[in-house]
Amino acid sequence: MTEKIQTLLAGRWRDASGPAYTTEYPHDGSAVAELHAATAADVDEAVQAAEQARKKPAWARLMHHERAGLLHRMAQGIRDRAEELAQLQRLDNGKPIKECRALVASAAGTFQFYAAAAETWEETLTPARGDFLTMSVHEPLGVVGAITPWNSPIASEAQKMAPALAAGCAIVIKPAEITPRMAIELARIAEHAGVPAGIVSVLPGKGSVVGDALVRHPLIERIAFTGGTQVGLGIQRLAAEKLMPTSLELGGKSPTIVCADADLDHAVAGVLFGIFSSSGESCIAGSRAFVHASVYEPFKARLLAAVENLRVADPALESTHMGPLVSRAHRETVERYVQLGLDEGGRLLCGGGRPQGGYYDQGSYYLPTVIEGLPNSARMCREEIFGPVLALLPWQDEDDLIAQCNDNDYGLASGIWTRDHKAAWRIGRALQTGTVWVNTYKLFSISTPFSGVKMSGYGQEKGRLGILHYTRQKSFYWGLNEAPLPWARA
Ligand code: NAD
Repeated sequence: MTEKIQTLLAGRWRDASGPAYTTEYPHDGSAVAELHAATAADVDEAVQAAEQARKKPAWARLMHHERAGLLHRMAQGIRDRAEELAQLQRLDNGKPIKECRALVASAAGTFQFYAAAAETWEETLTPARGDFLTMSVHEPLGVVGAITPWNSPIASEAQKMAPALAAGCAIVIKPAEITPRMAIELARIAEHAGVPAGIVSVLPGKGSVVGDALVRHPLIERIAFTGGTQVGLGIQRLAAEKLMPTSLELGGKSPTIVCADADLDHAVAGVLFGIFSSSGESCIAGSRAFVHASVYEPFKARLLAAVENLRVADPALESTHMGPLVSRAHRETVERYVQLGLDEGGRLLCGGGRPQGGYYDQGSYYLPTVIEGLPNSARMCREEIFGPVLALLPWQDEDDLIAQCNDNDYGLASGIWTRDHKAAWRIGRALQTGTVWVNTYKLFSISTPFSGVKMSGYGQEKGRLGILHYTRQKSFYWGLNEAPLPWARA
């Protein structure tokens, strides 16, 4: 049954002013939620309300430890509703329930982490270079905007909302049009935790309307964006017009390297999980596996056997490894890429199509797909597919391997499988990626900074210093004597 939902906009629960639309459950295409899209006028209303709310003493005068208290209550609010939120997240984007639970737990952890960062906030007394005192303090930026994609909504939104609130900002969140649910629930949790009205607004709707208006709004002091590189570039251009800082967490085409000495079973499991978890709809998906020629055939055989055992199934089942893709439209994009790979001369080793029968026919399912025989220069190896498609490439020479890995516009993440820690260090330091996993993949910790390089973006999220991106520094010089200044006696 379709549920009608409203959003928190400028301090009030209501319908946004744009047209009504429904979101779909990717498992069977059924309508899940009905809501209204926001308009540019709604953006203005939300931002103006945020600007008013953030200046009021109830927010502006909160002590760091009091703000920390609010964030702790939000972490608890998420935990209190963990199972319900995980189920809502599953209905929103079709991720397997186990993954949804992990996302919800990580969101709670994010609020807890930034509560601690707020509570233990320290300012700097800088070394004076004369008879004066110098110090630098951090002040909240003001009203910030967050724009998020559909693949891991609650985690992406928590990673922007928690540091923004911890820093004392107000935030207007624009979730992906098709997955608005988690941002709206986080706003509800913020309200229950005691965050004042107007400090958090959520504006569902189209990026080209709502996102664009948010980026352009003169009172928006920062945009934290996660999404595709082309959209990120457009945001960056607009931001330049008003000298607005941004963080851009963009796409990836991450290489995973299997060395000759790797524990093959461990590496197979890592490559499998790295590309096929979340149905490959992950910015850090390890979509290019470079396997040393001496172990290429045994690795391939074990990988294909492991793919056979993957359960592509209903995301509500505990045993499901891979659920549907987020939408039929996105599945068509993935299908076009697979066809392109085959047209470019690739050999299909498994998958390459939709599973048939039963609920598979209603949902946007796609089989885990492995293709070999393509050069790293093929478009299928260069462009982000954002689906369960792995290119398998043999390598022999380490310098050539590193050159191939780096010969890509993206630079988000990479993985190395080897027993030789010296080789892992050497290769890892040479890879142009923001994260390197050694003998593991896709592990995440809120305490560890995350960012891409090259076309994967810039501007770290996570980590203790993540809070600083929502502040500006102000420096003070305190004169300590009455000695006359240069022209005092002029
Ligand atoms: P997308 O870029 O199409 O959309 C992301 C968000 O931007 C959505 O909310 C969308 O409505 C909005 N948007 C679209 N056009 C806009 C515009 N003109 N102005 C302002 N906002 C606009 O991306 P997507 O398809 O939702 O998500 C997939 C992409 O996200 C992939 O490229 C993936 O790699 C990337 N991603 C990156 C990370 C990371 O941390 N680096 C994490 C998750 C996803």
